[in-house]
Amino acid sequence: MSTLSIKEKEIILESIRDIPDFPKPGIIFKDITTLLGNPKAFSTLMEHLTSRYLGYELDYIAGIDARGFIFGAVLADRLGIGFVPVRKKGKLPYTTVAEKYSLEYGFDEVEIHIDAFGENGLCHTGAPSKVLLIDDLIATGGTAKAAATLIDKVGAHCVEACFILELGFLNGKEGIKAPVYSVLEID
Ligand code: AMP
Repeated sequence: MSTLSIKEKEIILESIRDIPDFPKPGIIFKDITTLLGNPKAFSTLMEHLTSRYLGYELDYIAGIDARGFIFGAVLADRLGIGFVPVRKKGKLPYTTVAEKYSLEYGFDEVEIHIDAFGENGLCHTGAPSKVLLIDDLIATGGTAKAAATLIDKVGAHCVEACFILELGFLNGKEGIKAPVYSVLEID
């Protein structure tokens, strides 16, 4: 089902647990471990994403460290394409390309392997590899913006950024050049 019914959206949304004041006071942490532990919600979500992205002729899924790995790797396997981890700085062993982004206080950095999407980011036809970026949640959008920039920086093409949950009141998607698709949005 490339479009979710209201009931299916409810099944997914209700499977995500709210943890108030984690990791610090004032933040409501959206805990997706309860979604992963709920087979009905997890398979409803993954079937939806599979049917949505079947027609996109993607070459890779790039998942953001760490919860984006789970959804991204399952989706890549279902679509029969490769999975690329976008990691926090210092975790990848081969030559990397990095992008900094601002946090509330200071900076963080994400990295990918330079050849993650093929040499110069090109797929077997010689065209830029078509990449879907995925993460569990978009808040301010800083992490996803840096990850999308990285994909383009190595010569590939970020065709869409996908999130399970969007905190709409933070307008995070505005900074991302690629189209954004959020399965669920909270205002
Ligand atoms: P941002 O760069 O502000 O869009 O933050 C997105 C990243 O931080 C994602 O990888 C999320 O998993 C995580 N994150 C931010 N806010 C929350 C939240 N309220 N609940 C769960 N994860 C969050």
